[in-house]
Amino acid sequence: RAKGTLRNSFQFFDAAITSTSIEQLQIETLLRRAIERDELLLHYQPKVDRAGKLVGFEALIRWQNAELGMVSPARFIPIAEDTGLIISIGAWVLQEIARQMREWRAQGLPIVPVAANVSALQFSQSGFVQTVAETLAQADLPLGWLELELTESMLMGQIDDLRRQLIDLRQLGVTLAIDDFGTGYSSLSYLHRLPINVLKIDRSFVARLDQSDAMVERSLVSAIISLGHHLGMQIVAEGVETVGQRQILLDAGCDVFQGYYIGRPLPAESAAAWLHPRR
Ligand code: C2E
Ligand code: MG
Ligand code: MG
Ligand code: MG
Repeated sequence: RAKGTLRNSFQFFDAAITSTSIEQLQIETLLRRAIERDELLLHYQPKVDRAGKLVGFEALIRWQNAELGMVSPARFIPIAEDTGLIISIGAWVLQEIARQMREWRAQGLPIVPVAANVSALQFSQSGFVQTVAETLAQADLPLGWLELELTESMLMGQIDDLRRQLIDLRQLGVTLAIDDFGTGYSSLSYLHRLPINVLKIDRSFVARLDQSDAMVERSLVSAIISLGHHLGMQIVAEGVETVGQRQILLDAGCDVFQGYYIGRPLPAESAAAWLHPRR
């Protein structure tokens, strides 16, 4: 009997693994065709300054597939990374942002900087800076429209190579941000030797800020803001969901605010409303 139970549990385990692999494989197969079939799109989430004025957008990828419906990036970006598909998807993201901005400009709307999320594999490709340079050259937009969001884990490599790559991007007029700051373990001594412009405080610190027992989170956030400011960086808080969180961040000296309380990620047509001067 005990044997039977054991065997059954193995069968169950097997089945679970298999269905996961099939799902992965199905997503991979469908994802391979997503670009050519025009199934990828970008949503734009606003970022505002201390006065509530729009200072830019973050582009967030979405995948609308006939079979799978709307697939969240949390689900398909890891698969895109495992399969290398992220390289072409990442290049598409940059081009799509440029295309969207030209469309907005053609409608008489102002240009604001847009941030793209960069994956580790994309960033480690030797041709990455070249891809960015080509996108910028073809974009026909005024300098400074593109911001790249990197993560702390990408900053762990050989410091000299890393510095060179970041300096090259800076010289192209690209703004460099560290996304989800505080969740990785970037050494602080690294940080001041790299030409980073923006720190984005991770949403996990922001989430608990307005609770009465959030002493640790408040101290961490204050420390990040003061560190960043000493290094000449701009501080963005992500995941701001309440007026209370925004107020605490404002009091702590935070520069830029992003989150559902400010505005949700929106399809381009709706995001355009943020660009009108008399919003
Ligand atoms: P991220 O770059 O840290 O983006 C922030 C995520 O938090 C987004 O989820 C956004 O919709 C969500 N968010 C924004 N404000 C709030 C808030 O107030 N509360 C809560 N609970 N969530 C909020 P999303 O769009 O599902 O993207 C998830 C992650 O997928 C992103 O995290 C980013 O790492 C990745 N991603 C998205 N687009 C791209 C892309 O084009 N390329 C790459 N490589 N990764 C991307
Ligand atoms: Mg991001
Ligand atoms: Mg983030
Ligand atoms: Mg995040």
